[in-house]
Amino acid sequence: MSAAGGTPEQEVARQEQVQGAAAPAAPDGAGGPAVPEPVFRSDVTVELVRSSASDADVLFAARVSTRGEASLDDLRALGTGAVDEKARARAAGLVNYLMRDRHGSPFEHTSMTFYVQAPIFVFREFMRHRIASYNEESGRYRELRPVFYVPGPERRLVQEGKPGAYRFTAGTPEQHALVDAEVRASSTRAYEAYRAMLDAGVAREVARVVLPVTTYSSMYVTMNARALMNFLSLRTRREGSTFPSFPQREIEMCAEVMEEVWRGLMPVTAEAFERNGRVAP
Ligand SMILES: Cc1cc2nc3c(=O)[nH]c(=O)nc-3n(C[C@H](O)[C@H](O)[C@H](O)COP(=O)(O)OP(=O)(O)OC[C@H]3O[C@@H](n4cnc5c(N)ncnc54)[C@H](O)[C@@H]3O)c2cc1C
Repeated sequence: MSAAGGTPEQEVARQEQVQGAAAPAAPDGAGGPAVPEPVFRSDVTVELVRSSASDADVLFAARVSTRGEASLDDLRALGTGAVDEKARARAAGLVNYLMRDRHGSPFEHTSMTFYVQAPIFVFREFMRHRIASYNEESGRYRELRPVFYVPGPERRLVQEGKPGAYRFTAGTPEQHALVDAEVRASSTRAYEAYRAMLDAGVAREVARVVLPVTTYSSMYVTMNARALMNFLSLRTRREGSTFPSFPQREIEMCAEVMEEVWRGLMPVTAEAFERNGRVAP
């Protein structure tokens, strides 16, 4: 998992990945496009690519209710240590009040764009969160890479309890070996079928139908802080939450990185979210 802005070159590479790029070229003299070997991963990639999000943005929006237009520069000073403790405590108190009483709209005046690489079954869950903007790589305009998810050794495999409140336990070494072998074999077989159809001249949009939900995809997702808090409240499992949630571990891996990044950008808001039971305002 990663959480970094990255260089301009990385940004261009990411855009090519999301928007579509040519299939890898063959090495000199090889003739025809190179056929990549399947790659198996057990992690996700989440990187913040751009943002306009700070605690000052929330205060700025909230204070129009009581004071009219305010200077954003004055509020930004809160994050620089240039204001006294009283002013800082007042600001934190206002953010906490907004969170506690669920005055959510001031948190909407923010924006965070994340680049995410994760398996398709994670994207299916992710995109249920409608208060967000998405752009995903295309399986029609580009050849999909053979990168597949396989649960790592630390992934708990056995589900117990009732729907809505499952508990997971580790699983035996035999169960881990079985999952590992079956996921690798079926993903590899599916990719061979995909390649065979492409090689026979079948369109990418048809050939891709055999690829499994373990296939990695990539996307940009942009959320404001209010939508992100709703996402975090549902896609992380935390003791002490007012409304406990039991998300699938793989989307929780994405959510954990997003929360860490967001906490760095908006520490006062993140603290108020935590203090108020992780209820999205
Ligand atoms: C543990 C877990 C298990 C799940 N299991 C299933 C499942 O089995 N099957 C399934 O289909 N889904 C399932 N979901 C998905 C879930 O039902 C939501 O679709 C998903 O969590 C997105 O939440 P949201 O609607 O609050 O988010 P967003 O779509 O981002 O919406 C944010 C908020 O905006 C408001 N809003 C958005 N759209 C509307 C609207 N049309 N009308 C009124 N208000 C709106 C609501 O207040 C909403 O909370 C599951 C989710 C979780 C976390």
